[in-house]
Amino acid sequence: MLFNPAIETLPLPKLRKLQNERLRNLVNYVYDRVPFYRQQFDEVGLQPSQIKGIDDLPLLPFTNKQDLRNNYPFGLLAVPRAEISRIHCSSGTTGKPTVVGYTAGDIDIFSEVVARSLAAGGCKPGMMLQNGYGYGLFTGGLGLHYGAEKLGMTIVPVSGGMTERQLMLLQDFKPDVLCCTPSYAQTLAEELQKREIPLESLNLRYALLGAEPWTETIRQHVQNGLGLQATNIYGLSEIIGPGVSQEDVEEPGSGSYVWEDHFYPEIVDKDTGEVLPEGELGVLVLTTLTKRGMPLIRYRTNDITNLFYDQCGKRTHIKMGPIKGRADGMLIIRGVNLFYTQVEEVLQMFEHLTPHYQLIVSREGTMDEVEVHVEVSEKLLRALDLQHISIVELCRFPVLSELSATFGKRLKENTGLTMKVTLKVTGEIPRSEGGKLNRVVDNRQVYA
Ligand code: ADP
Repeated sequence: MLFNPAIETLPLPKLRKLQNERLRNLVNYVYDRVPFYRQQFDEVGLQPSQIKGIDDLPLLPFTNKQDLRNNYPFGLLAVPRAEISRIHCSSGTTGKPTVVGYTAGDIDIFSEVVARSLAAGGCKPGMMLQNGYGYGLFTGGLGLHYGAEKLGMTIVPVSGGMTERQLMLLQDFKPDVLCCTPSYAQTLAEELQKREIPLESLNLRYALLGAEPWTETIRQHVQNGLGLQATNIYGLSEIIGPGVSQEDVEEPGSGSYVWEDHFYPEIVDKDTGEVLPEGELGVLVLTTLTKRGMPLIRYRTNDITNLFYDQCGKRTHIKMGPIKGRADGMLIIRGVNLFYTQVEEVLQMFEHLTPHYQLIVSREGTMDEVEVHVEVSEKLLRALDLQHISIVELCRFPVLSELSATFGKRLKENTGLTMKVTLKVTGEIPRSEGGKLNRVVDNRQVYA
């Protein structure tokens, strides 16, 4: 369903015209109101009047996470603090959280893009949404909440975690839609199975999952485990929160629409900052075209993806591929670049390996090593009558050593890296308890 058909299907020339106007307003607005941007422009000798439209974006300097940290907490606000109606923070995954301020108008924009996202993800007015994103400073909870209200849904604001309560509400209230992180959706699916709660006792039809990278492997796991269709919702607090882009449930696996009338995307080379052509992988850079509280120009998200127009899609807006990972979260192992999502992708080929996995990185002398810990399916353990066996003994069984050897071989083919594989039994790998899950343990600094 399209929430705002007029804008979501706006012909490209009209969309460009709108973006050009909005960008011209934005550069004047920040030059007049934000000392950081005035200084940035002055340093490169740029007058706002030189920016005629989005084709001129490369003339503008980037904004980085460090710029937000340097101006912590309110230095980048473009309005007096009293005009800010809400404050959020990033989760602080990569360091000190960054602060964002929203005017009442910005909250309207946030609700609009989340409503569009929910509609693209299958939601309709009157459906019930169980919102398992954390409420509080994190943008997920309140972001989805206001968007769902705008769409006209019934919202259950349960927040993240409290698995027993989530399961109870899923059975008693019978919501149509679930929102949470993909790793927490895995937890819920697993806990349902453990308690032998039949899917027929729930009424879930759709899930909008985001806030961390995930692949088709987890999509299959969650869809089967919860009996629904799962789509990807992407966003970051610095830009607005969730609802920067969203997959359409009827266009699965073909990328997420970026609501580019509000957030103009570019892909740049990680090292040179040069804008890359359509389709190429690089760092996603976003410019907030309409926000007033804390607008950002060419914000380097650090997230690695690509952009492309989908001629078969039902909207005109550009699409982005799934996030491979963060540029600063990319592992460099013996000179080879590795995102943990590459390991996750390979797992899909193995019926008897579960998407409960973790990468342990260490340094032996001068050599970096990656060990992949992955849980074997209970089905296989049951078939081998090995449910209660300890991990030390696991590798003694030929079926399992063969499984780990084949997995290692596929990993090598797909990533170019030799990784040690350690099979684990159910429950040995950490699970999400409600929020983002850390799938990489990097012990290299211990040796550094
Ligand atoms: P933090 O950067 O501290 O985690 P946020 O809570 O604002 O702060 O999270 C935004 C980040 O989460 C994004 O920059 C991106 O790295 C990740 N993220 C959000 N949604 C997705 C998604 N659908 N797929 C992959 N990564 C995502």
